[in-house]
Amino acid sequence: MLTRKVFNDLAIFMVGFGVLIGIIFPFFVLLMGVPRESVLQPTFILACILAGVFVGGFNIFLARQVVGRRLKIMTTKMLLAEGMVGMRMVDADAPPCNEKDCHIPVDSDDVLGDAAKAFNALVQSLSLSYRTEARVKAFTQVISSRLELEGLCTTALDVLIEHSGAIGGALITEQSGILALSAVRGIEHPEGLLENPLLWQVLKRQSPHHVELPADVHVNALLVTYTPKALLFLPVSYKDVPVGVVILATLDAFDAQTRAHLDLFTGSLALALRNAITHNQLQKLAANDPLTNIFNRRFGMLRLQEEYSRAVRLEQPLGLIMGDLDHFKAVNDTYGHLVGDRLLVQVSSLAKQALREGDIFIRYGGEEFLAVLPGASLNDARTIAERFRRLVEENTLQHGDQIIKTTISFGVSALPDSEITNMTTLIDKADKALYHAKELGRNKVV
Ligand code: GH3
Ligand code: MG
Ligand code: MG
Repeated sequence: MLTRKVFNDLAIFMVGFGVLIGIIFPFFVLLMGVPRESVLQPTFILACILAGVFVGGFNIFLARQVVGRRLKIMTTKMLLAEGMVGMRMVDADAPPCNEKDCHIPVDSDDVLGDAAKAFNALVQSLSLSYRTEARVKAFTQVISSRLELEGLCTTALDVLIEHSGAIGGALITEQSGILALSAVRGIEHPEGLLENPLLWQVLKRQSPHHVELPADVHVNALLVTYTPKALLFLPVSYKDVPVGVVILATLDAFDAQTRAHLDLFTGSLALALRNAITHNQLQKLAANDPLTNIFNRRFGMLRLQEEYSRAVRLEQPLGLIMGDLDHFKAVNDTYGHLVGDRLLVQVSSLAKQALREGDIFIRYGGEEFLAVLPGASLNDARTIAERFRRLVEENTLQHGDQIIKTTISFGVSALPDSEITNMTTLIDKADKALYHAKELGRNKVV
């Protein structure tokens, strides 16, 4: 480098070379046999040198026009792209450099053309990654506010299909070890997917799986039925706990970039799905009995199952009390159903006084109750039942000028007990004891 400016260096070399040629040219002409007196004239030599200078100067003008102009365009576009990338760093909503603005025309098959192509490819992947980022952001916003499982799954699957260019797909969720088809697009007989052994494999290993030419899967797209070229199984897991699997059917294999982007989507899907599944389960289960506002049988049985498993696992006692109001039919018949209902509400609230914190009280049937007492031995359970029995016996219900009283019978069972092998036998034993209490004349604990 002479001047740190490429075109200036080029100008020096070109003009210098022109001058050199101008000096050499008269001697070359001599060799060709032109008479000395015509050649060795100061005017002729000067004209040759001037011609050399002119050719050098014109060359540098052409170089500036042909190469310099292209370099100038490249520089402008690069600065534009750089400015937009910078702007997005400050403001994520700033528009990305689009392909039209930042594209360099490729009009030569040489190193400049290659440089332009390379730059255009860079802009393209940059804008693809911005588009993906924007989509993932929008996707996360949409799904994170949704709690109903079905709608969430359908929306999520549609976005994944659109983004990946798939022709169909399914979203399968896992709840308590059971797989369910939560959303399907296009796939014929999607139930077959649930039997695919790959599903469990993908869930367990939490790594994607790719199947070429799945013979048993067909995709219905409007009027045409396709056999996909590949199926992609993507695990959806939240904090390493599997939540579901996304299956995408495609006519061409997914490229590495699309697959990497899909990971971003499933990452944010996992949390939303986890929330929706929990919400869904709660909706089904958070079922308090509407009359007495204590746990209904369905939820109560699940809680009992949990407490039973925990007691067995930790080898701790577990008491169970089953209660049934005495001659309750007669109360209904004498005072009416509404009075019967009020009595049921009263008895339920008495349970709060009889039971301890952490005990579970369930409306097991019409006028039948179950109390689950974690940590209570058979003796403890009997004592608690006796306390409850007395509270009911002492309780009164005012109905006009009448005082209504009732009694309750209890059957008690508890772990540990060599005869009790599961939750059902624990309940059966309390049930049988209750039957005995009734036989013994009611208002008793057995
Ligand atoms: P026993 O001492 O043998 O238990 O006599 P019982 O009359 O209580 O026994 P039975 O099971 O024959 O009657 C239960 C009654 O409870 C029948 C039904 O009318 C009443 N019952 C069940 N659910 C409700 C309810 O939600 N409200 C009211 N008011 N009554 C109910
Ligand atoms: Mg009954
Ligand atoms: Mg009864």
